[in-house]
Amino acid sequence: MPRAPPPLSARFRLDGHRALLTGAAGGIGEAIARTFSEAGASLALVDRDAVRLRALARSLSTAGPAPIVAPADVTRVAEVARAVRTAAAGLGGLDILVNAAGVTAKGSVATTDPAAWRALLDINLTGTFLVCHEAVPHLRRSKDAAVVTISSVYSLIGGRDRAAYSASKGGLDALTRSMAADLAPDGIRVNAVNPGFIRTPMTAPTLRDPKAMRFFRAATLLPRLGDPQDVADAVLYLVSPASRFVTGICLALDGGRALGR
Ligand code: NAP
Repeated sequence: MPRAPPPLSARFRLDGHRALLTGAAGGIGEAIARTFSEAGASLALVDRDAVRLRALARSLSTAGPAPIVAPADVTRVAEVARAVRTAAAGLGGLDILVNAAGVTAKGSVATTDPAAWRALLDINLTGTFLVCHEAVPHLRRSKDAAVVTISSVYSLIGGRDRAAYSASKGGLDALTRSMAADLAPDGIRVNAVNPGFIRTPMTAPTLRDPKAMRFFRAATLLPRLGDPQDVADAVLYLVSPASRFVTGICLALDGGRALGR
């Protein structure tokens, strides 16, 4: 006999869940923080900008305790360890980790400076590893843990003039599948989402470039570009009880761009 699922009203709720979000001061991170807060989660917010984190924490209307603000640069081992410790201590444990901290950079293999390559990989790929490395022992103690990493459609299709960024996101997809395999016996689900063009501070320079915007609109099959809430809703699904049998997927959220028609 199939097991009875939680009622629909509970399947997309996060009441009692304790979530650590990196990149929380950014466009997608903020939308996830607001959505999780609305869904009843208690939050620990991590980013390198403490001022923006504190402003976000003040603006979140949580019924429960105020969000924990834990500033850290995800490339710095000691800062990441301290932020995860602060988050777990303040929330009384961790059930959810969302990795949204990241940067982008233009350049092909020929034009990317090796130091710039290393710096980007250090944030997007190694930074995510460091946060996971510190968070997994806490997630193992949860009854119902989930990790979601914000990858990119460029890991699926290869971004023109985005060699380091695409490689970093390809690494995150592989890390997601590897972690899903390693952590499944502990009941920890690990997934990624792969957004296409989303309107955030990261893409603000592109939004001001009419030629680039013509390209992105033409490459996106649906007749609009993405908003941070499009990503936040998919992340909510992937950490909520509604996706309790889903692990190891990399979910394109790109208005059909990866179809390449
Ligand atoms: P965003 O607004 O720039 O947010 C990214 C956040 O991460 C920023 O607050 C940024 O701080 C922070 N961050 C960068 N490096 C960090 C570090 N070393 N330590 C701690 N925090 C750091 O960009 P977004 O569009 O919301 O991007 C969020 C994630 O989605 C990124 O991983 C991005 O690659 C991915 N994504 C975005 C799009 C898109 O179209 N927007 C598409 C696909 C994937 P600073 O502001 O100080 O850099």
